[in-house]
Amino acid sequence: MCCRTDLNPMSEGRCLSLHWATCEQIWNSDYLRSVRSQMLAGEKIPDCSQCYSTEADGGTSLRQIMNTQAEQLWRVSGEEGILDKATAIVREGGKAPPPSALHLWLGNLCNLKCRMCSPMFSSQIAADPIQAQWFGDRIRAEILLPVYLDEVKYTGLGELTRRGEKLTRPVKRGKVTISLPANGAAIDLIEISGWKNCHQPCYLSVMAGKRAIARQLLSDGQWQIAIELAPTEEAISSLELSLHFLHLLQPQSLLSNYQGEQICSWGLQPCIDIDNLRIVSQKKSDKGQEREILSRIPENTQWSSNEKLVFEEILAHPESLNLLLFAGGEPLIHPMFPAILKKLIDTDHAGHISLYISTNGTVYNRRLSEMLKQFLSVELAFSVEGIGQLQEYIRYPSRWERIARNIPHSAPSTVT
Ligand code: SF4
Repeated sequence: MCCRTDLNPMSEGRCLSLHWATCEQIWNSDYLRSVRSQMLAGEKIPDCSQCYSTEADGGTSLRQIMNTQAEQLWRVSGEEGILDKATAIVREGGKAPPPSALHLWLGNLCNLKCRMCSPMFSSQIAADPIQAQWFGDRIRAEILLPVYLDEVKYTGLGELTRRGEKLTRPVKRGKVTISLPANGAAIDLIEISGWKNCHQPCYLSVMAGKRAIARQLLSDGQWQIAIELAPTEEAISSLELSLHFLHLLQPQSLLSNYQGEQICSWGLQPCIDIDNLRIVSQKKSDKGQEREILSRIPENTQWSSNEKLVFEEILAHPESLNLLLFAGGEPLIHPMFPAILKKLIDTDHAGHISLYISTNGTVYNRRLSEMLKQFLSVELAFSVEGIGQLQEYIRYPSRWERIARNIPHSAPSTVT
């Protein structure tokens, strides 16, 4: 899906992300399969409402622009029958072939801090303590329970069961541990809820490593606890989180069922279960680089900094590509940008790939120009709102003189 969609594509209750799923898993996820089926059936996709609304207002939507571009590309590359092939694959429920166009948003590395931009797109703004605050912090959340996540280690919980509408997991012997990988963002909030079946008083103590972070008497029936962590507290994400359920009466009054779950002497169901454990982060690291709470990418970096991910997953099928779109940040200063171009040139794929590059125009050089000439076609879109001092005010600290020099130098690329 593209940058205009309203919602983040979800799968298994999580936003589809390279931080936990492979490119192939995302490309053939239930979400994208259902989008393809709906599109081929001529149904409207709720997440594409911005484009439908532009069209209803008499405008030309990004959806229409991209459809026209795709038709042109298929014609140029002699692949006019591709839509029929795709239709047959979707109808048969098969896996989609590798993508023919990729929009690579290389992350927020940028040399400018434009007035209207945000930390998400500009590393300069993310590192600016004042301008970064204009936009607030980005909230990230992960639901660790009741459904297990692959990246997390759990002990002390029973099988996933259903209580009414909710999925839950029973607490087996009064102690649950949840170990998160050690490279996540700092956690600000932990929310836990569940159900208590017995009438024995029971405390829940929550520990982060050896540090007690909360203690609460659980109410009978539905219980919940929200733990706000002080900004100065050490990041929880690298630690083991343990939940201790302490019954105040004699342990003899508790029995175990055949699954090893604690049950009350007068009941047949497990004493306690957990139906939700959610952790929330809204802090940034000291360097302004946003970190995910859980990430399969080594060092928890942006995907575009990881060569293995870029070349072995995202660009694993260069033979299928006919269009690459680059945006940032400023893609022309990103180290991965020339690395991608070089790889496509060295492997003889540049000749069948068109490029569309969105740039702020502050950077252009002969070496880049030589590389771009190897591609089927190149379109450079310069983000410029004014000339002279107006441009310099909006796109601080750019210099108009330099941009004005770079634009004609970029010819013979198509300039928009
Ligand atoms: S050049 Fe683009 S990415 Fe960089 S600060 Fe300006 S608008 Fe944001």
